[in-house]
Amino acid sequence: MWSTMQDFPLTITSIMRYGSGVFGAGEVATWTGDGARRRTYAEVGERAARLAGALRALGIDSDQRVATFMWNNTEHLEAYLAIPSMGAVLHTLNLRLFPDQLVYIANHAEDQVVIVDGTLIPLLAPVLDQLKTIKHVVVVGAGDTAALAEAGKAVHSYEELLAAAPPTFDWPEIDERQAAAMCYTSGTTGNPKGVVYSHRSAYLHSMAVCTGNAMTLNATDRVLPVVPMFHANAWGLPYAALMAGADLIMPDRFLQAEPLVRLIETERPTIAGAVPTIWSDVLRHTKEHGSDLSSLRLVPCGGSAVPAALMKGFDEIGVRIVQAWGMTETSPVATVAHAPAGVEPDSDSAWVHRQTQGRILAGLEVRIVGDDDSVLANDGTAVGEVEIRGPWITGAYYQDEDPLKFHDGWLRTGDVGTLSSDGYLVLTDRAKDVIKSGGEWISSVELENHLMAHPDIIEAAVVGVPDDRWQERPLASVVVREGAAVTADQLKAFMADRIAKWQVPERWTFIAEVPKTSVGKFDKKVLRRRYADGELD
Ligand code: ADP
Repeated sequence: MWSTMQDFPLTITSIMRYGSGVFGAGEVATWTGDGARRRTYAEVGERAARLAGALRALGIDSDQRVATFMWNNTEHLEAYLAIPSMGAVLHTLNLRLFPDQLVYIANHAEDQVVIVDGTLIPLLAPVLDQLKTIKHVVVVGAGDTAALAEAGKAVHSYEELLAAAPPTFDWPEIDERQAAAMCYTSGTTGNPKGVVYSHRSAYLHSMAVCTGNAMTLNATDRVLPVVPMFHANAWGLPYAALMAGADLIMPDRFLQAEPLVRLIETERPTIAGAVPTIWSDVLRHTKEHGSDLSSLRLVPCGGSAVPAALMKGFDEIGVRIVQAWGMTETSPVATVAHAPAGVEPDSDSAWVHRQTQGRILAGLEVRIVGDDDSVLANDGTAVGEVEIRGPWITGAYYQDEDPLKFHDGWLRTGDVGTLSSDGYLVLTDRAKDVIKSGGEWISSVELENHLMAHPDIIEAAVVGVPDDRWQERPLASVVVREGAAVTADQLKAFMADRIAKWQVPERWTFIAEVPKTSVGKFDKKVLRRRYADGELD
């Protein structure tokens, strides 16, 4: 029998109406370098209506794609609300991509309009004439618009468009399964692949992010998404903040440790999300300058493994990091690492749990699968590929095939690890980063974690390199703290106290910086290529 419940769609329109109505007095502050410009959620709601009207006037009248090429700021939030709610599709372009990837992605998605921050015009202008389907460029703030006009596109000022548009919009009824937003990620092979989020998936994901087992948002919070809105939806924090009635603090382009710390001291966020590299820089800066991060009650961190040393460093200044795991394909938040009930906050058990990638959020299912595709035990010991399914996990890529990524309705994540019976996930590697030495697995992540706990080491990346005897051996590339003198032999001795002797790398390189991907993760491909022939620097 059917239920008697109303079949009310879960949409971004309803998040927008709720946030800008019930929490209309809530605030969005965007950092300007020496202060913040502020708008209420009610104002943002009205400006989203104006933006929808302006886009309609430019010809956006169905599920066409409207791209953003923007930092985290109020206008980006307005685009996050207006574009899906008018029935179009928000396409966040990653501004750190290589130009040819950017061109591929915008053309593949057939973006019609791009909204660009004036400060980012120098990155967009050189490729604009190759973005075939783009007809209109809408510029937020000041910038060199002459550079855009050369590409033969119509160029508009965001504020002028909004001023000319009506303050209300007749928001259409939307099927919750309709496309709301899209984001490209690297698949297993070939070109980047598009993940298309639905209104329903965005709604459910935002609710999950708010919950006490995840990022614990409520109306007393001020949320700082440092993690970019152009990559994996800033972990869903913008929509979640509107749902929770929490204020939003946007860092715009000020992502270095010094301005971030000043922003935190001035705007006093309670929750701030970023990848580990950003938090390491912030911690170093804070320790050097005695800065005040005391407003922060929770710091969600993920995107790559969070070193225990980083968590402990933050604990020492009274700020709690909580590790989370996910990927573009999972909206992205899938697991969050709070210690379980009944465990003393600083006990060994609390630390064991906090160092996992996290506990599965309600609504999702995770399993570990062996090389032969058999499902392994959830016993915290059996190691295999992590597969996941649920209402905010993608089941395909946009107009692209990648059959290797899907398995009987589950997403193959490419991550390798274990799952405990009470739902904690531990990653030992990405499938492509696993090192196989003489038939035995070595976890590059474990080695990196130990190395980054060394007081003189700032960054460490371990990759497998060819070896005549063992097929593959670990090579450790380390970045040493300025002024420190540490030798490979000392590091070997340090590691020998912590891991099995046969796992200790014999190859070491001392580098100025670990190469990073467009989203700030260690780029091990570059290191593997650099050392593929076994020759060290
Ligand atoms: P990509 O880096 O491939 O473009 P994403 O940005 O979506 O794609 O990154 C997803 C990947 O990041 C995950 O599959 C996982 O390998 C890694 N990752 C995310 N969070 C964590 C974490 N807490 N610990 C370890 N790895 C993580």
